[in-house]
Amino acid sequence: MQQPYGLDIWGDRNFIIRNGQIHINYKSSPALLDIVSRIRKDGIKGPLILRFPHLISKQIDSLYDNFCRAIRENDYRGDFKAVFPLKVNQYPEAVRAVVGAGRRYRYGLEAGSKAELILAMAYTPTGSPITVNGFKDEEMITMGFVAAQMGHHITLTIEGLGELESIVEVARKTPFRVPDIGIRIRLHSGGSGIWAKSGGMQAKFGLTSTELLEAFELLKNHRLLERFTMLHFHIGSQMEEIAPLKRALREAGNIYAELKKMGADALRAINIGGGLSVEYAQHPSKRVRNYNLSEFANDVVYLLGEIMKAKGVDHPDIVTESGRFISATHAVLVTPVLELFSHDYQERSLKLKPVNPPLIEELLELSRLLTSSNSTEFLHDALDHMESLLTLFELGYIDLQDRSNAEILVHSIIKKALYLKQGNPTPEIERLQERLQERYLVNSSFFQSMPDYWGLKQHFPVMPLDRLDQPAIRAASLWDITCDSDGEIGFDPEAPLFLHDVNLDEEEYFLGFFNVGAYQETLGMQHNLFSHPSEATVLIDDHGYRFSNIDEAENILEILDNLEYDAQEVLTELEKKITDSDFITKEDNRDTLATLKRFLAQNGYLRTTR
Ligand SMILES: *Cc1c(COP(=O)(O)O)cnc(C)c1O
Repeated sequence: MQQPYGLDIWGDRNFIIRNGQIHINYKSSPALLDIVSRIRKDGIKGPLILRFPHLISKQIDSLYDNFCRAIRENDYRGDFKAVFPLKVNQYPEAVRAVVGAGRRYRYGLEAGSKAELILAMAYTPTGSPITVNGFKDEEMITMGFVAAQMGHHITLTIEGLGELESIVEVARKTPFRVPDIGIRIRLHSGGSGIWAKSGGMQAKFGLTSTELLEAFELLKNHRLLERFTMLHFHIGSQMEEIAPLKRALREAGNIYAELKKMGADALRAINIGGGLSVEYAQHPSKRVRNYNLSEFANDVVYLLGEIMKAKGVDHPDIVTESGRFISATHAVLVTPVLELFSHDYQERSLKLKPVNPPLIEELLELSRLLTSSNSTEFLHDALDHMESLLTLFELGYIDLQDRSNAEILVHSIIKKALYLKQGNPTPEIERLQERLQERYLVNSSFFQSMPDYWGLKQHFPVMPLDRLDQPAIRAASLWDITCDSDGEIGFDPEAPLFLHDVNLDEEEYFLGFFNVGAYQETLGMQHNLFSHPSEATVLIDDHGYRFSNIDEAENILEILDNLEYDAQEVLTELEKKITDSDFITKEDNRDTLATLKRFLAQNGYLRTTR
């Protein structure tokens, strides 16, 4: 059955609609709105990131289940191992959930920088793998040696020959254990999708065949061949199609087999990187992924098995570093709607005169008598009257009040017609709907919370948290509160978003943006100085739910402090200006400063009732 807002496309049964509200489809199934209300009751306003660790757990289970099944079914004789790439989400609550849920599988962590490596060394359970990718200097390599000395199963993947030389150097200079060494290969075949730059001959990372041979010699000459255990490739994130992966596997599999024949005896694993995609589409026509995890796992296991059989080489262990797939679904961004811009056209602003121009009287009649059977005809009449009234205004026959009344009435007739025709709109109604887009102002920053929308036009599923049993007839564009015109998600007629007509003076309206748990949080930027939103981690059991963590967004002074402003200096400057002001009396000085200080201790998002 088709679900509202494409929930059946992107939702993966993680959410369920009940009594018009969206609920978490797990154990006691709380409503998102209930969770949000509880947090807001404690005074935390503005946007909110909700984390659901059970969804990380679900993805990890699914990854291992599928690969273990494929290994069994294909009689494959290597092991399956996996690590979570920290760059996908380094927030402590996300990492805690990953490490907790992964413990029983010996799920490890992948690091791409010194800071991430320190996190991996601190939080990877001893015995679970750590892999290190990205460019490394001697210091970072030494950190890897220290990790090995600590007892970690760590593999340093070299991205170029220089790094191998550094490893040789550090092995010579320090007393620490030499970590395992992986080599990233530069494939001939590229990836697919908007993140495809990681694969192919133009890729930023990896060794060519010639360099690989040199690396082999270098390892042999320095007696490090026994530490060379892993071959690595990564063809890019959010792989839309399976074909490039298959090409990459064939290439990598054959290189692996050749290296084994050359005497790389310790080599025992192929690391296939990440790239497992997540469905973000809300409309069937926008789906991009042409495979699922089961097919992915089957292909990897089957292809590697076949290549090794043909070359007479033992099956390698399979390592994956998929991150987006693990963490994207666990986080939901909830934003209050602050304003609907067309509220200027509200009917209560209508100020009819004792005597109105005849066309206005007719508009009133049309509005009163509109039904679903006459709506098309009446709509045409109303649009026609509007044209005439505008001409009358230009010619000076009606005044500004009449014009305002006409706009309000026509707007309300169109709205009623849209409502009556919903479910069965004519092409004309659809066009009108587009033209009459409602702009929903949401209390968040897209730059901060969905940077991939800004940078790559990545769509994130969005839907209201309630009223899902009521018709949503307003063609919606979404505006954030940055004063940047790029902070807008426009209405797309090919993937239309319809929201509800709400009166925010009387009721609240919240939108949820889904699948924002991968990459968005640390990629996000403080444009206009909006900081990482408040966040809460929600643990759900059979009887209800509880928060294991609620963390409010940084307050304004903290934001300035992080920009290297001296908070004390800011306060002193403010105080001085207040004291010197001709408009503030001595008695009022303290009150003024106290008011400002209260604001400075709050987060920077808008608080006006919402
Ligand atoms: C980014 C990255 C990953 C994770 O990719 P996903 O698309 O998030 O699965 C894995 N391995 C390497 C080397 C990466 O750079």
